[in-house]
Amino acid sequence: MKAYTYIEKGRFELLDKPKPEILDPKDAIVKVTLSSICSSDLHIKHGSVPRAVPGITVGHEMVGVVVNVGPEVKTVSVGDRVTVNVETFCGECFFCKRGYVNNCTDPDGGWALGCRIDGGQTEYVRVPYADQGLDRIPDSVTDRQALLVGDVLATGFWAARISEIKEDDTVLIIGAGPTGLCTLQCVMLKNPKKIIVCEASPERRAFVLHHYPHVQVVEPADCLAVVQGLERGGADVVIEVAGSGDTFELAWRSARPNAIVTVVALYDKPQVLPLPDMYGKNLTFKTGGVDGCDCAEILSLIEAGRIDTTSLITHIFPLSRIDEAYKIFENKEDGVIKVAIDNSF
Ligand SMILES: [Zn+2]
Ligand SMILES: [Zn+2]
Repeated sequence: MKAYTYIEKGRFELLDKPKPEILDPKDAIVKVTLSSICSSDLHIKHGSVPRAVPGITVGHEMVGVVVNVGPEVKTVSVGDRVTVNVETFCGECFFCKRGYVNNCTDPDGGWALGCRIDGGQTEYVRVPYADQGLDRIPDSVTDRQALLVGDVLATGFWAARISEIKEDDTVLIIGAGPTGLCTLQCVMLKNPKKIIVCEASPERRAFVLHHYPHVQVVEPADCLAVVQGLERGGADVVIEVAGSGDTFELAWRSARPNAIVTVVALYDKPQVLPLPDMYGKNLTFKTGGVDGCDCAEILSLIEAGRIDTTSLITHIFPLSRIDEAYKIFENKEDGVIKVAIDNSF
């Protein structure tokens, strides 16, 4: 089968590899129908994920059909359509039992697929701890509707969940890339009084205005003035998803006293937490990575028509043209938000 492979810093290639096999009784093998490219794949390509293992197949956001299960797999069977979770977790350790699955203590725990073990930009993938790592897609939900459930949508859902949003709140979301837009949809489920999205790209600001006309959109240069003009002198909740040079500072400065600042962003560099400047502001910070254990709930919200991320998938390519797909995603060409790789071509 063809598998998009991390060769070395700066180089991914489509190679021939043998189909994966069951290695552990809790494994399942999934025939990938649709996968996508995530900015974390680019981080691997750029060499900024030291634990990524050269030679692995990349890709950690995918849906497919179960074609084989180990003898200890209980929740999915051959023939089931499933979403694959970006995180591998045992379901039994101290952290898993409390829902902190990102910190699963299993040696394979956390982000393993497409980083430390073979991932999904290919035809077949082995999923460890399949009972935790796979969720059945309801019959009325398409693969395209379910594609983002295991990674960016799980992240947006988790960010909205931990941010303690109340109906009287103004929520500021910094960044309207794929994760920011998923976060926006999940924040909307909490019905806050007002949502403001701050985004540098004019194309992405236009996308938000077009799809979510009730949301206020600002550019970074105006953001602080806009939120300081609010009744409480800042946003009640700030969710920082952008992770660019000065967005962390923008996030805490935009928060009103006693606000919650949730940091989902993954930064390339350390950020400054200037406690003397913040003194008396009494902020609460919450920080990422995602605990991706809400996928079943997210799928039922999609089934009920309350979440729909299909408009985020702006480009679709066959696996044979994945180099082209990466080029468009990496250079943010042609209004791209998400690129899907469709194995049915
Ligand atoms: Zn990702
Ligand atoms: Zn665990």
